[in-house]
Amino acid sequence: MLLAIDFDGTLCEQDTVDWFSAHYAPEVFADADRRLAAGEIDLDTCLQLQVAPIRVPESELVAFLVETVRIRPGADELVAFCSERGVEPVLVSSGFENLMRPILAANGLDLPISAHAVDCGPEGMRVRFRGRAHCDLCGTACKRAEVRALAAGRPIAYVGDGISDLCAAEDADLRFARHTLARHLTAEGHAFIPFEDMHDVRRGLAAALDGAA
Ligand SMILES: [Mg+2]
Ligand SMILES: [Zn+2]
Repeated sequence: MLLAIDFDGTLCEQDTVDWFSAHYAPEVFADADRRLAAGEIDLDTCLQLQVAPIRVPESELVAFLVETVRIRPGADELVAFCSERGVEPVLVSSGFENLMRPILAANGLDLPISAHAVDCGPEGMRVRFRGRAHCDLCGTACKRAEVRALAAGRPIAYVGDGISDLCAAEDADLRFARHTLARHLTAEGHAFIPFEDMHDVRRGLAAALDGAA
């Protein structure tokens, strides 16, 4: 089984990209967020707009994130459980691998990451988007095909919190959801296990694996 885990708001308590964007460039952040909500721009455009004016060095940004971002409790136990039970965990994120990696390391975690990257510098931040296929089901370059490719035919468990997780979560065999994702799955009539921390995810996964055995 593949366990695809969203990073922002899911493994981490905060949405780390929103968090540092709102911290370093609050007015641009709020304006891009409003335009995204109004449907004027898509998520990728919003992301690039929000980080563009931020001119702090990468080391300073990483230090701010490592200092302030909290990983949800139970992540270590979940990773250990996955390795015992032959489940492959992977982080699938619309954030930036080069900023995620130090947050994980500071919390003693090492997980494979599928995410964008970002260049920092005096000209501002520039997103290096990874190629993601356009999805005919939701009309964006979403996580569905990406997760399916990572699963390579294995069953999929998906853990997420937001609207950008919805398309991939719909496609999963087992869903863990909180916040906006939970509301959308409920509205669409898809079953899911609610979670507040990674202990909830580990227990749900154990129950599903033992039930299937
Ligand atoms: Mg999220
Ligand atoms: Zn989609």
